[in-house]
Formats: sequence, C-alpha cells, structure tokens
Amino acid sequence: MMNMVESSAAPDVQDWVTSVVREDIRALASYHVPDSSGMIKLDAMENPYPLPEAVRREIGDIAAGAELNRYPDADARELKGLLRQAMAVPPGMDLLLGNGSDEIIQLLAQVCARPGAVMLGVEPSFVMFPMIAKVCGLRFVGVPLAPDFGLDADAVLAAMAQHRPAVSFFAYPNNPTGNLFDADALERIVRNASGLVIIDEAYHPFARASFMARLPEFPNLLVMRTLSKLGLAGLRLGLIAGRPEWLAELDKVRLPYNLNVLTQRVALHMLSRADILDAQAQAIRDGRTLLSAGMSRIAGIQIYPSDANFILFRAPGAERVFEALKRRRILIKKLTGSHPALRDCLRVTVGTPEQNEAFLGALSASLQEVGAGHA
Ligand code: PMP
Repeated sequence: MMNMVESSAAPDVQDWVTSVVREDIRALASYHVPDSSGMIKLDAMENPYPLPEAVRREIGDIAAGAELNRYPDADARELKGLLRQAMAVPPGMDLLLGNGSDEIIQLLAQVCARPGAVMLGVEPSFVMFPMIAKVCGLRFVGVPLAPDFGLDADAVLAAMAQHRPAVSFFAYPNNPTGNLFDADALERIVRNASGLVIIDEAYHPFARASFMARLPEFPNLLVMRTLSKLGLAGLRLGLIAGRPEWLAELDKVRLPYNLNVLTQRVALHMLSRADILDAQAQAIRDGRTLLSAGMSRIAGIQIYPSDANFILFRAPGAERVFEALKRRRILIKKLTGSHPALRDCLRVTVGTPEQNEAFLGALSASLQEVGAGHA
C-alpha cells in the first residue's frame, strides 16, 4: 500500500493549522508593532533619554560578569528586596515579578479563568486587558468611561453586580487617555467589587498618585507597576504587590525562570542608580508641560489633560494627520478606528525637548497639509 503522505502533494499546512489551533486564536490579530527605523519614535511611551555613558559601561561589566551558563535565581530574592524599598511596598504585603507587567496580566487571567469567568475593565483602556482575557478564555466586559474619560463608578458597580467579574483592571493613570481617575470613585469600586481588583500603576513615575500605601485597607486589591516607562522598557520587568494569599496562587502559574539573569542583574544595578531614572522622569514631566502648552497653541486640535508620559489629542482627519507626520519621520500612535470613543484621536509620547519641538513643527505642518487637502 502506498504511503499517503509520500504520495500526496505537499501537505497543506493551513489545513493542519485549522484543525489543530483554537478557532478563537485563529480569529485574533497579533499585537502590531510598527517599523520605526529612521523615525523619531513617539508611539510607545518609552523614556526618550539614553543612560549616561558611565552607567552603560557599568552595565557592560555586569553583562561580562554574569553567569549565563546558570539559570537565574527563580525567586529573584535580592531584586525583590530592593524593589520592595524602591516601590515602598507596605509591610505584610508580598511582591511578584514578571517579564514586563504584560506577563503579570496574563498570570492574573490564567488563575482567574474558571469556566464562565469574567474580566472587567473600562473602555477605552489598555488593549492588552481584553486581548489577554480572550486568549485565557475569560469573557471581557468593558464599561464605557464618561465623555471626558472620567471613571463612571455607578456604571462600573452596576456592571459588577450584573456580571460578577472575577478580576477587574483599572490603569491609574489610564492608557490611552492619560488621565488619573478620581481616587474616591476608584476606592468605592474596590470596596464594593465582587472579585479581585488590579490597579495598574504603569505610569506612576509621571503621576505620583498611588494606591500602594493603601494596600492593607483592601483585601481584594493588588497594585501593579513596571520599570518600562521609567526608562527600562527593554529589560522587561514588571511587578505586582499585595497580600501573600493572592500572590502565592499567581506564583504557581509563573514559569520558574521568567526573569533572566541579565534583567535581574541590570535591574539591581539600576535601582542603585535610581537617581538617574528619577531625574529623567522629572525631565519628562517638565517636557509634558511644555509639549501640552505648545499643542494648546495649535489651532484645530483638542488636547486632553495628562498625568502620564503621553498626550491624547483629537485632530479632524486624524488618519491623514498620522500619515502626514510619518512622512515627516515622526511616529506617534493612531487610535482613531480602535474604539468609537477615540474617533479622530492620536497619542503622542513625551520626547526630549528637541523631539517635542520637532513634533510640534511637524504637527502644525501636517494639520495645514491635511486642511489644504480638504479645500
Ligand atoms: N499597563 C499599561 C496601562 C500599559 O500602558 C502598559 C504598556 N503600554 C503595560 C501595562 C505593560 O507594560 P510592560 O509590559 O512593559 O511592563
């Protein structure tokens, strides 16, 4: 008898994929990261400042001395100790580290994904919340923000009563809107929530408002942070703080060596040079003030107040403004089309003073060009 595989034409891989891979995964689009080569990159909320030359050399020495033949410390004990101090984690609260806070969102979704479980968030907010919910088999319920992007606590509590979410996420400040939700509204939600509530403080260095010190007040609250926006996005280090009972469950799902040797060692070093990152965060906050003042002088756009390292704005013909900026080698984030509340919205990350100036000039020129196109 002939061997079926040998005799048939080349196997159709797509048929295999279709029969093997989950239908809901096949229907998803992967998270798109645009090519930014040769561009002024103001799309991803990165810190625009490089590290001083001396610190780069110190990191070079650390890399040279790292034992890459050994697995990393699975518990990252030393790093956790320093992060605890740096982030002022209250006594009695534990810390769990992730390969970016993205990974921690995934751990949270995985441990909460009982059959029929719901994840709740607000809309518009960080797109990875619904995306990770879907991949982990949770139903995502998105509660609309108020027209000014404020938190509608009544609407959130009504949705919580209806859907009984296992876990709810609130970015504080919120991405992509940039605003800091009202702390009393957030507190009311945490107090009355049916399940676990995560306050995602990724943009904490630019807001300096936090629920970290208040963790002991709420048994169902965890606070998440990241080193990404502070200037170490490439290292991939996120953390979550809260009661040991919750974190012990997350730790069972965490892969043992999720933080590699270089990340651990370089992060340790950078925490000892935190003054550099803090000064850069201050420069970014100052840059935000100047950038928003500059943008408010440009006619025809509406800018939203920001407590983060980026500014959301509305520009008629946003799609074409975005393309016109790109032609001027400036990459920002196009939000229009991603959610009805973000129609004509774009988001620019605060850059260096020179980058901000270049953006302001290019934005004026792009708006004129697009306006001229209308005539
Ligand atoms: N939370 C929020 C609100 C974010 O905007 C981001 C990054 N854009 C993250 C979490 C993920 O950050 P990271 O994985 O780099 O720690």
